[in-house]
Amino acid sequence: MTDVDRMSSAELVGLDEGIREVLMRAAALERQRQYTLRLDFTAGDPSKARALAVTLATALGMLRPDVETYSARLSAGGRWTDAGPAFCLADGPYGAFCAYPHGHHGWHAEDGVDGQRWGDGDEGV
Ligand SMILES: [Zn+2]
Repeated sequence: MTDVDRMSSAELVGLDEGIREVLMRAAALERQRQYTLRLDFTAGDPSKARALAVTLATALGMLRPDVETYSARLSAGGRWTDAGPAFCLADGPYGAFCAYPHGHHGWHAEDGVDGQRWGDGDEGV
């Protein structure tokens, strides 16, 4: 999704026609250059599959920081239509978001050793 896609129609209408046209063309060009990678693997259960998906996406993000890996999605049985998020992505303080697997227990946590922790700890999600 581009920044232009995130703009409301009121914001786009309020722009000068020339600027709006340039932004719309840039957004369309960016969408045309966006690709999705899909991997197939086996795991013992959904939580193990989600943990492996997060590990693979995190590793790819380390190798290629320019690739947006937090958009990783996971589905079972090859049914891509019901794919769910691989990462938790809960909002945290100061713009942080949770890099743990979706549905994890305990604290939410940013990526990295020194990342922030927040939430209900071991008592909740
Ligand atoms: Zn979380």
